[in-house]
Amino acid sequence: MAIDLPPTGGATRVPVSFELYPPRTDAAAIALGRTIDKLTEVDPAFISVTFGAGGSTRDRSLTVLSYILENTDVEPMAHLTCVGSSAAEANGLVRRFLDAGITSFLALRGDPPLDGTPLSVGDLQSASELVQLIHRVQQEREPFSQEAVRGTPGGTRLRARPRPERVAVAAFPNGHASSRGPQQEIDALLAKQAAGANLAITQLFYRADDYLAFVDRARAGGVSIDILPGIMPAASAARLRRIAELTEEEAPDELLIALEVEPTEEGRTEIATDFFSDLAAAVIAGGAPGLHLYTHNKHTAVLDLLERIGHVPAALNRPIKENA
Ligand code: FAD
Repeated sequence: MAIDLPPTGGATRVPVSFELYPPRTDAAAIALGRTIDKLTEVDPAFISVTFGAGGSTRDRSLTVLSYILENTDVEPMAHLTCVGSSAAEANGLVRRFLDAGITSFLALRGDPPLDGTPLSVGDLQSASELVQLIHRVQQEREPFSQEAVRGTPGGTRLRARPRPERVAVAAFPNGHASSRGPQQEIDALLAKQAAGANLAITQLFYRADDYLAFVDRARAGGVSIDILPGIMPAASAARLRRIAELTEEEAPDELLIALEVEPTEEGRTEIATDFFSDLAAAVIAGGAPGLHLYTHNKHTAVLDLLERIGHVPAALNRPIKENA
């Protein structure tokens, strides 16, 4: 199924989307508002907001999503995780987000607690189950709500309740940590598609062929939903190593060494922009339907990348002071 993304201009202009995480402090929240303003200027298809394991960031995630909904024309996408939640808890969570007007979701299993606590019987076990639940919650809701008409005492009118539009899921071109082999990734994605997902977003990767070969395998296996490549233009070797610990995706040695030996921040930024804009251009040339950029709550690196591949005019990416 093709996803409904806004049209773009030139040949290399595919739709872009961004990922943010909920801020931890008031100062970071103010800085994030400015970042969202800058990201919004390039007309993204959506901006997604991560969700802490076990719902730890639920309220902060919802605050950022509501900010995007109320202050921009960009579609906010809520990441939701289900591991450790009963069906009733997950049902309540989905309802709460729908009631707040959020209609796009990235349905994730999430990671079980690191201490090895076993999951309870009845807890949701996979992203596919959460995808199904999002659709079920929608079907169970009244399609309309009644609201008071201002200025008409006792007057009410029916208003259509927001419906889930995009239900995205994660995909892992190089395999999930728990995967037993490449076919399992395709089976997992097929299961998510069968459950009702209409978009996949990949884990970050560093070689265009990782993504392109995965998409080929997915298509051969019967996956028809769009698969957006996820790219994180990180400009520090320490950050790339930390990402590898979290995702098991190792950055190429050439990139790590180049960033390590370069003494200036400006030089490191240039190295990262070169590397990740080449990666973005290669996946677009290979047919990627868009680009999903992990921002780390900063706009400059992702806008530099988009500027380099001709997606945004340079004038849009002039510095405002970024959150440190
Ligand atoms: P699932 O797809 O349910 O399962 C993971 C793996 O298990 C599959 O890839 C596959 O190997 C196997 N598997 C599952 N079902 C099947 C099946 N039916 N057949 C065969 N194999 C199967 N985590 C957070 O806590 N918060 C976030 O906001 C967050 N955002 C993310 C955004 C993206 C784009 C990505 C890629 C990951 C994100 N994560 C987030 C991390 C994610 O929660 C973890 O990677 C988690 O371990 C797996 O979640 P999942 O939804 O891919 O799980």
